[in-house]
Amino acid sequence: MNNDFTMTIDGRAVQSDKVMDVINPATGQVFAQAPDCSTEQLDEAVAAAKAAFKSWKTTPIEKRQAMVRQAGELLIEHAQDLSRLFTREQGRPVEAALQEIQGTGEWMKAVAQMTPPVHVSEDSENQFVETRYVPLGVICAIAPWNFPVNLAMWKMAPALVAGNTMVLKPSPFTPLCTLEIGQLFSKIFPAGVFNVITGGDDLGPKMTAHPGFAKISFTGSTATGKRVMETAAKDLKRLTLELGGNDAAIVMPDVDLDDVAQKIFFGAFFNTAQICVATKRLYVHETIYDDLRDRLVAIARATKVGDGSDQGTVLGPIQNKRQYERVLDLMDDAKANDLTLIHGSDVPDDGGYFIPVTIVDNPPESSRVVQEEAFGPILPMLKFSNVDDVIERANDSEYGLAGAVWSRDTDKAMEIARQIETGTVWINQNLILRPDTAFAGRKHSGFGVENGIEGLLEYMAPQAVYMAKAG
Ligand code: NAD
Repeated sequence: MNNDFTMTIDGRAVQSDKVMDVINPATGQVFAQAPDCSTEQLDEAVAAAKAAFKSWKTTPIEKRQAMVRQAGELLIEHAQDLSRLFTREQGRPVEAALQEIQGTGEWMKAVAQMTPPVHVSEDSENQFVETRYVPLGVICAIAPWNFPVNLAMWKMAPALVAGNTMVLKPSPFTPLCTLEIGQLFSKIFPAGVFNVITGGDDLGPKMTAHPGFAKISFTGSTATGKRVMETAAKDLKRLTLELGGNDAAIVMPDVDLDDVAQKIFFGAFFNTAQICVATKRLYVHETIYDDLRDRLVAIARATKVGDGSDQGTVLGPIQNKRQYERVLDLMDDAKANDLTLIHGSDVPDDGGYFIPVTIVDNPPESSRVVQEEAFGPILPMLKFSNVDDVIERANDSEYGLAGAVWSRDTDKAMEIARQIETGTVWINQNLILRPDTAFAGRKHSGFGVENGIEGLLEYMAPQAVYMAKAG
């Protein structure tokens, strides 16, 4: 059992009195322990970040950018080692884990090139007026378990480039890679600039209520996001909430099925469908419905689901027991309502949190599996015949995260995409996100923006300076 993992507080490696178990979802067994941060340690981390803010905010931005770039490079350097740990705690196959870590390093290097703008409204004989952007203070960053490295660094890189300091908390289900990253980066950033703490279910609420934070950047479920917003209201903390989604994909009758079937499959099931922007409702034109369904089923039957450490595994387990039971509950509800479920390849039956890839064949729009975010490998496929009608069905959701349109007629696809009420829409591709492009949820999918210059500015406040020139 590995219990050498430490938090990073004020640049130091810190143990805690209490620890929490970390489970390998492929076996259901505890394989490591992580610190369970005490209230005093949280206070210490916030105080350290507050003290570090004084000099970090006045450190020239070029230096802050250089350190974030260096951190990205260090992450890439350690990606191989971290990827094995990633697979054990998160479940995803090693090759895909490696891609997340390396991709995150590259992402950080791209964010390190961003500089906030300065707007000059007037520069005349009488007056000079400019708006510049200043950092906020100490950022409370809370991350989920589905992309534990990527989503944490989406927060850290822009927040630190902008001149803020941070206390980051990963999910209790996937604390280990983030703890290791905290230690790695303590070699780069001044003490207190980037702190990493871990703990159980009570640590998140303690953080969001802590008066030392200027802003909360949260990624997780809509239900938790609402609680975070409620707590933040008490002292008007700034907020970015990246929450759940129930993304619709619309497949038009003119697609080349040979080309799109594989892409649509992995747009729904990559990371065992535990992606906020995965396709979660697949609307297919009635003339190609059976053909696409049969192809997706064939891919599902040829796709190996298993322990991510095993050679050849494409899809790993559900990341944790809570989520596993939630997906099984949706599956039971579908069965109880006599919906038609079509399963992919067999899954191991040895204590891991495995669920076979499952397609639900044309269920009613009102069924739970269509209405709720599954966040697991159970995909409802639905028929449509009329484009206006399917756009309405796609938009008839409390969520508004992302969506996709598949068609060879790109003008028509663009016309449909513009009517989808989500922050991101893909045409003939999916799951692509970029550091220079805004990512934002609408409706119950979120509040605020990550990525792009807009995401950088979420970690800053505008300050207008009016100067009368001496006459
Ligand atoms: P979750 O809401 O259960 O947990 C997210 C984080 O919040 C964890 O670190 C958790 O410990 C912490 N937390 C729990 N209760 C808290 C509270 N009361 N106050 C403060 N923090 C608290 O979400 P999850 O199950 O880890 O993640 C899955 C969800 O995240 C899905 O709904 C998915 O769609 C969403 N998600 C969204 C995005 C996005 O960018 N929009 C990205 C990934 C995941």
